[in-house]
Amino acid sequence: MIPIPLLAPVIVWFRRDLRLTDNHALAAAISSGRPVIALFILEQGNDGALPYGAAQAWWLHHSLSALSARLAAAGSRLVLRRGAALEVLQAILAETGACALYWNRRHDPDGISVDSAVKAALRASGIQASSFAGQLLHDPSRLKTGSGGPYKVFTPFWRALSDGGEPDTPIDAPSHIPGPEQFPHSERLEDWRLLPQKPDWASRFGETWTPGEAAAQEQLAAFVRQRLGRYGQARDFPGLDGTSRLSPHLAFGEISPAQAWHAARGAADGSDAEGVAVFRKELAWRDFSYHLLFHNPELATDNLDRRFDAFEWRDDAPMFDAWTRGMTGYPVVDAGMRELWTHGYMHNRVRMIVASFLIKDLMVHWRSGMSWFRDTLLDADPASNAASWQWVAGCGADAAPFFRIFNPTLQGEKFDPEGAYIKRHVPELSRVPAKYIHCPFKAPASVLQAAGVRLGSGYPGPIVDHASARSRALEAFSRIKASS
Ligand code: FAD
Repeated sequence: MIPIPLLAPVIVWFRRDLRLTDNHALAAAISSGRPVIALFILEQGNDGALPYGAAQAWWLHHSLSALSARLAAAGSRLVLRRGAALEVLQAILAETGACALYWNRRHDPDGISVDSAVKAALRASGIQASSFAGQLLHDPSRLKTGSGGPYKVFTPFWRALSDGGEPDTPIDAPSHIPGPEQFPHSERLEDWRLLPQKPDWASRFGETWTPGEAAAQEQLAAFVRQRLGRYGQARDFPGLDGTSRLSPHLAFGEISPAQAWHAARGAADGSDAEGVAVFRKELAWRDFSYHLLFHNPELATDNLDRRFDAFEWRDDAPMFDAWTRGMTGYPVVDAGMRELWTHGYMHNRVRMIVASFLIKDLMVHWRSGMSWFRDTLLDADPASNAASWQWVAGCGADAAPFFRIFNPTLQGEKFDPEGAYIKRHVPELSRVPAKYIHCPFKAPASVLQAAGVRLGSGYPGPIVDHASARSRALEAFSRIKASS
């Protein structure tokens, strides 16, 4: 039993804000003048399920390890506990005699529901519970249309966000965090078994990614220095290193969007002004997704456009399986799905292509694709994932119309003209000439033979004919359009 200290400590509850800089909850806890206990709870449902997919569990392990080291360098310690949030908090409040709890707000429905219950229970027992902003550029409830409702279209949302002024200037990390005389017991990170066991399917994540706040800041600085200026032109080309690749860091809050916004200030001579504007607009898409989720808590489960409830989705397990394994016979789709499996990431342009292929060419429900992404993406985000899948399906807010069906061959030719992206992720095709790299099924036998490709043994032929699949999807769409 830990004795109740004279100066009761306060608790900072870390969640998807695994950073010390621009952390308002942490700053407020330190300003209280009391000893601070840093806590992370692995929140498990009654069935033991974690609120993370398998890929994100890998990231979480390393991110918590990095946060622990950062806290230790500031004279503190990260306490790890597992269980239902309220039960864990009540236990640790009782053990330590802490008098207040601080956290940065989260904006997904499950998070909001847990936090509301925690706040009510703690306040009822006389414990101060204070929450702060930091996950988004602006609070999702703040921006309202002229008639006081939520936005459904991005352009006016973006106008309101830009007119609302810049996000607050980020605050520095504390140099020292005062701790209690005795820290409460912490579970061991290794015991949480967040890393894959056998087989280690995440073995190559570490080649591409370094989780943690320090790496996030380096990644942001390198992007601003080297790629921001040409971001507007390069961001759509998966074969180029044209985007920030900040998304997993943002998903875990290792940097705040305000830090990304302010760092992307651009050169004093305005030479990279276009890159700055386009990049900030992309950050605003993240906010817009949260705005949609906040105002439509069912975004991950229900079609926003209810006409799609009657759409004739196909429950085709072999086709879905071919899509997940990157074996559809359409090289750009397969490269994307293999990039996802191997690196826990996929370029945005390719996400749109593979999602369109699943939904429209295969007519598999967008929720199946979203769930696969949730399990395999390191940046899986409850708002951006759900909003983007609904956007591609044509049933979301401000969505691409259903009848806009990406042709995977033409998309590949346009955005990866030399096939550099394909060759990186689909090695079987590495010797296919650029002319056929997006459509090996059209290549003469002599070309395939010279490239060492035998379609159907090794790399597959197309699992559907795109033109017929497109007609089938449009017919299905015309039936729900007609019934509305
Ligand atoms: P950059 O181009 O450098 O953009 C900077 C940041 O802006 C990103 O890190 C991200 O936070 C935000 N951003 C950029 N584009 C979008 C967008 N279209 N919607 C919302 N935010 C955006 N993004 C996720 O973070 N998590 C997801 O689970 C996710 N699922 C997606 C599913 C589908 C079907 C599609 C089409 C897109 C999805 N996106 C998701 C959006 C986008 O693909 C990624 O944010 C982007 O590819 C991340 O790479 P980056 O950090 O290099 O992006």
